Amino acid sequence: MAEKDYYDILGVKKDASDAEIKRAYRKLAAKYHPDVNHEPGAEQKFKDINEAYETLSDAQKRSQYDQFGSAGPQGGFGGQGFGQGFGGAQGFGDFSDLFGDLFGGGRRRDPRAPQQGRDLQYTMTLEFMDAIKGKATTIKYNRDAQCDVCHGTGAKPGKSPVTCHQCGGQGYILHQRQTMMGMMQSQEVCPTCHGTGQEVQPGDQCTKCHGAGHVSERHELKVKVPAGVDDGQQMRLQGQGEVGQNGGPYGDLYIVFRVTPSRDFRRDGTTIYVDQDISFTQAALGDKIKVKTVHGDVDLKIPAGTESETNFRLRGKGVPFVNGKGVGDEHVTVHVKTPQNLNKRQKEALLAFAAASGEDVKGYKGGFFDKLRDAFDD
Ligand SMILES: [Zn+2]
Ligand SMILES: [Zn+2]
Repeated sequence: MAEKDYYDILGVKKDASDAEIKRAYRKLAAKYHPDVNHEPGAEQKFKDINEAYETLSDAQKRSQYDQFGSAGPQGGFGGQGFGQGFGGAQGFGDFSDLFGDLFGGGRRRDPRAPQQGRDLQYTMTLEFMDAIKGKATTIKYNRDAQCDVCHGTGAKPGKSPVTCHQCGGQGYILHQRQTMMGMMQSQEVCPTCHGTGQEVQPGDQCTKCHGAGHVSERHELKVKVPAGVDDGQQMRLQGQGEVGQNGGPYGDLYIVFRVTPSRDFRRDGTTIYVDQDISFTQAALGDKIKVKTVHGDVDLKIPAGTESETNFRLRGKGVPFVNGKGVGDEHVTVHVKTPQNLNKRQKEALLAFAAASGEDVKGYKGGFFDKLRDAFDD
């Protein structure tokens, strides 16, 4: 394989910004896309463009490429998967997004074929407890939907679309032009019918959608958020995206959850973490205390002689699994608090305790306030 200069292929400078690279790529990819460009060599050129873009659009690959050049380590980047044509290879998400804009959604051979509508994304912010308990709610968002007057045909009731006059029903038109290299031919989506091969004659157009067959609507949707969803998780609602083309199905809606943090609880997946202060007498003598859980307060037995930072596990007191099959645990960490600002009686009791333990504790006067308190206590 000859050495390739990716910057050269995309026609950008070595210090080009991401936006410049993307712009150059889109321009070239549109020009050499095999759906529109049937010149010999165009397909290879298209592969090169994609290979260059795949490397230069990825910060890590780009810096590797900059470092090692086109004669860099084999297999580290670039090239792989491009010999197989254009469909199905990994890492093409980006490209199909770009072509979505250029060609009305995907690399279809026949612009008249039914095509699924665009997917949409909706970000839902949930209170901490709502994410744990789940909730039923209603969301509203804008989407392109099928026109309910013409049911997508774009024609008035009783009228039908006819074969497009510009493309003769092909959905695309051919451009020929004379160049230095001879006659060049390219194929473009028909501007009249936008690839459908059909048009509604003037006067026959649906009055609601003006012939488009689809309208922008404020869509209202009841959503049941399952118990246990976590920040960053998403839920797919089939058919709640935008209307398809040429009778294709609706796209999907992806709801992405954002969960606000809690003051009382820390969450890691299905586990809840809680910090609980206890007194040193509770730690020494043992006690039964109330602990917060996401399911309400529960009793926790503190055994006599508990050390500070001891962890207790409360089984089944964590977050429900989002698949409904089980519940996580809560971990309680106890922190033994050293008593502060002791009054006289407390001090006497502690000195008695020390004496009973065989300790010779003298105490130490703390700050200004200790002295002040002592003055009042006496
Ligand atoms: Zn209509
Ligand atoms: Zn047409």
